[in-house]
Amino acid sequence: MNYSNSIEAFEKAYQVIPGGVDSPVRAFKSVGGTPLFIDRGEGGYLYDIDGNRYIDYVQSWGPLIFGHCDKDIQDAVMGAVQNGLSFGAPTTIETNLAQEIVSLFDVIDKVRFVSSGTEAVMSALRLARGYTGRDDIIKFTGCYHGHSDSLLVQAGSGAATFGNPSSPGVPKDLTKHTLLATYNDIASVRRCFEESADGVACVIIEPIAGNMGLVPASEEFLKMVRQLCDEHGALLIFDEVMSGFRASLTGAQGLTMVKPDIVTLGKVIGGGMPVGAFGATAEIMGYLSPEGPVYQAGTLSGNPVAMAAGLASLRKLKSHPALYVTLGNRAKRLMKGFKDAADSVGIPLVTEVRGSMFGLFFSPDKITNFEEALKNDTAKFAKFHKGMLDHGICLACSSFETGFISSETSDEMIEETIRVAYLVMQEIKGNQVEE
Ligand SMILES: *Cc1c(COP(=O)(O)O)cnc(C)c1O
Repeated sequence: MNYSNSIEAFEKAYQVIPGGVDSPVRAFKSVGGTPLFIDRGEGGYLYDIDGNRYIDYVQSWGPLIFGHCDKDIQDAVMGAVQNGLSFGAPTTIETNLAQEIVSLFDVIDKVRFVSSGTEAVMSALRLARGYTGRDDIIKFTGCYHGHSDSLLVQAGSGAATFGNPSSPGVPKDLTKHTLLATYNDIASVRRCFEESADGVACVIIEPIAGNMGLVPASEEFLKMVRQLCDEHGALLIFDEVMSGFRASLTGAQGLTMVKPDIVTLGKVIGGGMPVGAFGATAEIMGYLSPEGPVYQAGTLSGNPVAMAAGLASLRKLKSHPALYVTLGNRAKRLMKGFKDAADSVGIPLVTEVRGSMFGLFFSPDKITNFEEALKNDTAKFAKFHKGMLDHGICLACSSFETGFISSETSDEMIEETIRVAYLVMQEIKGNQVEE
């Protein structure tokens, strides 16, 4: 594969954009090499500016469940563009999209649109704090909820459950209200509730974690988290920015009986345009301005072009109920293929599938939380990623990311990917012997 145009473009970008990218994960830091500069997408394929073609399992990190350049979404966007790009005033299309979401999620009576997942989660936290009159929140290590201050938190020293900032620029005074629990470990959640002096406003969780690799929460665990929230008068927030419309039409909520109080959505909801949303019962949402006292706003919120893309993509999803079965089967076939390829050369690999989401770890053991995820063989993943890329398969450039199947990822593409995986696993094994 020749990457010379991408390498040159990256050097230029580096001069004027920090790290050459507008979001750090794009920089290929954990796998080495240069990020691909993209020329265009087409269905299940991605083309870089060197003219290389890749089968795309990143799909813009989740949003593109219908692949690139979906005709229905494009038509809706073109139509909206012709009427104007933004008004800063209500349009009926916002109501239409809200109605679709309300009809899908039984815990949502009302929904507010924002422009990113980060914004959705940040606003949902403020709402939970305003509603309960409490400051403390509980989050799980390894779950990602965007880059707002309260959530850029890492474990403190010793046994303390109160978080420390994970980035310079985040005040300690803010993260001291964020308590850190261990995913799939209910005792750690109980401990957080006990350690909170002034009460917990909410527990926020990715019910299917997709940002430490793909690590689902067990049904039993979610049930007990729900119970603890009820006992303590705290709200439960399901962050389904990634899993929403991905794990199933209604995300994790379609796969578990556990019901959250607030849901955050993003990625697929915008069909490739910048959209986020958060929703809850009418009572909770009634706390939001202008109905209630909790302030939240956005100049481009509910942008008509973005709403048009979201509406077209949600309506298309609703009218293809069998899609998730197809995507799930393809994801399972792909992961079985990867697993068989690894087995064939004796490399330990564990895989996971939820709907159109898939994950793999170079690890002998099943992964249930972040601490375990950290033990995966990232060096092996880097080799795997590079090998696959060189053969025209684009996987997310970190072992802590989730992969995605779109409606345009055909059975043939899956089989082609598996063929390449056998080759690459053999290459990895061969290198190992030489070392
Ligand atoms: C991607 C993601 C976010 C952040 O969304 P942005 O649109 O990148 O701001 C929040 N929560 C989860 C679970 C995500 O996967």
